[in-house]
Amino acid sequence: MTTNKTPEEGRKSLNFIETIIEKDLHEGKSNGRIHTRFPPEPNGYLHIGHAKAICLDFGLAQRYAGKCNLRFDDTNPVKEDTEYVDSIKEDIQWLGFDWEGRLFYASDYFQQLWDFAIDLIRKGLAYVDDQPAEIISEQKGTPTQPGVESPFRNRSVEENLDLFNRMNTGEFSEGSRTLRAKIDMSSPNMHLRDPIIYRIINHPHHRTGEKWKVYPMYDFAHGQSDYFEGITHSLCTLEFEVHRPLYDWFINQLATDDYRPHQTEFNRLNLTYTVMSKRKLLQLVRENYVNGWDDPRMPTLCGLRRRGYTPESIKNFINKIGYTKYEALNDISLLESSIREDLNLRAPRVSAVLDPVKLVIVNYPEGQTEFLTAINNPEDESMGTHEIAFTRELFIEREDFMENPPKKFFRLSPGQEVRLKNAYIVRCTDVKKNETTGEIEEIYCEYDSQTRSGMPEANRKVKGTLHWVSVTHSLEAEVRLYDRLYSVENPGEDRDADFRTQLNPTSQHILKNCRVEQHLAGAQPFEHFQFQRLGYFTVDTDTEKEKRLIFNRTVSLKDSWSKEQAKKQ
Ligand code: ATP
Ligand code: MG
Repeated sequence: MTTNKTPEEGRKSLNFIETIIEKDLHEGKSNGRIHTRFPPEPNGYLHIGHAKAICLDFGLAQRYAGKCNLRFDDTNPVKEDTEYVDSIKEDIQWLGFDWEGRLFYASDYFQQLWDFAIDLIRKGLAYVDDQPAEIISEQKGTPTQPGVESPFRNRSVEENLDLFNRMNTGEFSEGSRTLRAKIDMSSPNMHLRDPIIYRIINHPHHRTGEKWKVYPMYDFAHGQSDYFEGITHSLCTLEFEVHRPLYDWFINQLATDDYRPHQTEFNRLNLTYTVMSKRKLLQLVRENYVNGWDDPRMPTLCGLRRRGYTPESIKNFINKIGYTKYEALNDISLLESSIREDLNLRAPRVSAVLDPVKLVIVNYPEGQTEFLTAINNPEDESMGTHEIAFTRELFIEREDFMENPPKKFFRLSPGQEVRLKNAYIVRCTDVKKNETTGEIEEIYCEYDSQTRSGMPEANRKVKGTLHWVSVTHSLEAEVRLYDRLYSVENPGEDRDADFRTQLNPTSQHILKNCRVEQHLAGAQPFEHFQFQRLGYFTVDTDTEKEKRLIFNRTVSLKDSWSKEQAKKQ
């Protein structure tokens, strides 16, 4: 048995699919070959649910020295597009997986599938039905009642061959005829009640152009494609369990040897406050409820990437939730804690003020600038330090000052002292207010010059520490804060609910007048930072386009959201 376990993986117990694989290897099935595939339909962008499937398909191949193909199941030309093909490839690579040149398309097999359909007709196992899809579906019956046989079920082989050929030359209109497998209209499994295997579609295909007028149904293409590629373990989500007998039926008609791809089903990833259906995600994009597939609020991989998620954080999350045979709804705060853990180790600490108010240190010399040392990451000394400029005029967070504070307000208020992070202790002496609105315009402080790091009074205790930036040595920035896209916990649950009423109307807050320390000049898209006290932030891709600094908040420092929800309940 060949295994390729890293020490980390070796320590974990096996999931049920790994147990199956190890047993198959032990028994010498498929000559010890492990060959999986990831089979997306290129009709949308990948989301974090797909990442769960990708980590399994590619991860098992890695772990057991096997292979994993990327195969686009492109059987519906109306919904598919090369834009999706390209984005899917990019996202898989971003996650760190490689199909090693084994890139296939179900459309590569259109000829083989056609030949197989002809074969089924010749064997009397498929027929052309002239009824529209609605009638066919009515005749299907229910799980407890047998279906009704089509009046066209017993056409001659010659007539079927003739009609099927003519369906493919454009002679018949869409929907006027289908090809159905002749299996069993009273099977307890509805999928075996003469399923449609080909339909007419008058739409060019993104790869085969105008060549075909009939297209195989997904169920007809999927299992056979696995067979053509020599897949040993076809892994898919639980809803396909009931399709398995149909896939097996097709392959039993097709196969000339003993080899069979073996299908195993696992539970889908469902996340709280998240919708994962591609159809619904497409609707959010098309109807402008979000700004594109890569909107940082989307559960798409490109959205998560833009938001600041790393491949490691996604893979760690998926590792934690694991694979089972039971549907579950996973808490999105588990995903958030996974990115927190990851960015805690890799994000340099910097200062940014989101809602600035000016603080003037009246006893600090005008025109003087001191460069103080800020540690980049207390978790990792090797990340070094950088300098932060201290001057007479600073910005602090407006909410860090209160003129008449309640008890236990350990931030700044008249007469009180606070420490300015990496700098001095200051005491508030006065404020200037706008005469008409009463808004605080400036806060005045005196600093204690002996309280800087390395000085005699450096360790003097004060209750609060505030972040700040220098007025003259800081940069303008836009900061985008995000909340959950949906306000209901399980938006997919109620199928009849109008999703517009489920959306969180305040899922995005754009703050235009933020200030960040000068150290962030030149920060590049996808760079990660921790803004002291505010959370983890990532440079947005618009920064490049608009030539100004724009940050997305990836996640706050603590899971304050769950706490607030708990309080409300
Ligand atoms: P649709 O939303 O159109 O039904 P889909 O989400 O099933 O499509 P596919 O392109 O068919 O999208 O998915 C490719 C693979 O990803 C399939 O094997 C599918 O089982 C898996 N997959 C899709 N969604 C999830 C999910 N939420 N969790 C785990 N795996 C998923
Ligand atoms: Mg699907």
